[in-house]
Amino acid sequence: MNTHGIIINTTDLKSYPFWAEKAKAANINTIGLHIYPVDEYNELLDFIKSDTGLEFLEKCKNLGIEIEYEMHAMSHLLPRDLFHKNPEMFRLDENGNRVKESNFCLQSKEAFDIIAENTIRIAKEMCPSTSRYFLWADDGTPWCKCDKCKELSESDQSMLVDNFILKTLKTIDKNASLSHLSYFNTLKPPTVIKPEKDIFLEYAPISRNYDIPYKEQTGDCKDNFELFNENLKIFPVETAQVLEYWLDVSLFSSWKKPAIKLPFKKDIVFEDVKTYREKGINNITSFFCFVDNEYIDNFGFPETELNTYGEILHSSMNK
Ligand SMILES: [Zn+2]
Repeated sequence: MNTHGIIINTTDLKSYPFWAEKAKAANINTIGLHIYPVDEYNELLDFIKSDTGLEFLEKCKNLGIEIEYEMHAMSHLLPRDLFHKNPEMFRLDENGNRVKESNFCLQSKEAFDIIAENTIRIAKEMCPSTSRYFLWADDGTPWCKCDKCKELSESDQSMLVDNFILKTLKTIDKNASLSHLSYFNTLKPPTVIKPEKDIFLEYAPISRNYDIPYKEQTGDCKDNFELFNENLKIFPVETAQVLEYWLDVSLFSSWKKPAIKLPFKKDIVFEDVKTYREKGINNITSFFCFVDNEYIDNFGFPETELNTYGEILHSSMNK
């Protein structure tokens, strides 16, 4: 299956009862549920267990829409309140201090044991219909700087942990595959640690420019297009996924509410999708966050934008 997806927040999901229908009408076949802010894990979990949530999941199933869970999961895999018990599990910062914020120390076996335990729990609580899992590191934050860890780049540290999480997932789901999030401080591909089979690239160029086509953003441009090509030398293209922001009200609102009206640029989406397809990319998704009650009251549901996006994805398939 080629993924044509949107990613929405818990609040968006709870705000609006017609996500499944709107996705279907727009030829979107996958809805990714995203947690933002990151402490909304229990809110999403409570919702998908509620009558309304179960009804939503059932509706998606009947309409052939897959459900996935995409989240910065590290603080749920290794809860930060364990810091006082064993600081050695946590990250060493640039100044040589153990800090509870941001990822963890890869030299700690105890940390990996706890991460394994919580991987299993989360995979059962938020079970994707596709067996594709998205348990990302902390959001754009640094990795460990202890003498041993710092021999690996941030992308390599992240890759090592992804391989471990995948191995853990396989114990309960033999079809499991796991995203390696190429984003912000891990946008460069890993160079030392190789992705295991069933790790797939998820490429999210958050700092790129949305006013010009991505393939023109080379050289000094932020999150330049060459980095995408570099990643495709390491990860299989067939399973790679692009996670874009063309529809992301939250990005264009700088993650502050009240949100601004989505500045949707059809021509850019068209050009970018063409570029990604030319590279052989099958799976394309976009954040579509902050479309909540308040947004819909102010601007209406961005139906034209969603339908146009879906149509561009769909019609690019046969080219
Ligand atoms: Zn370390």
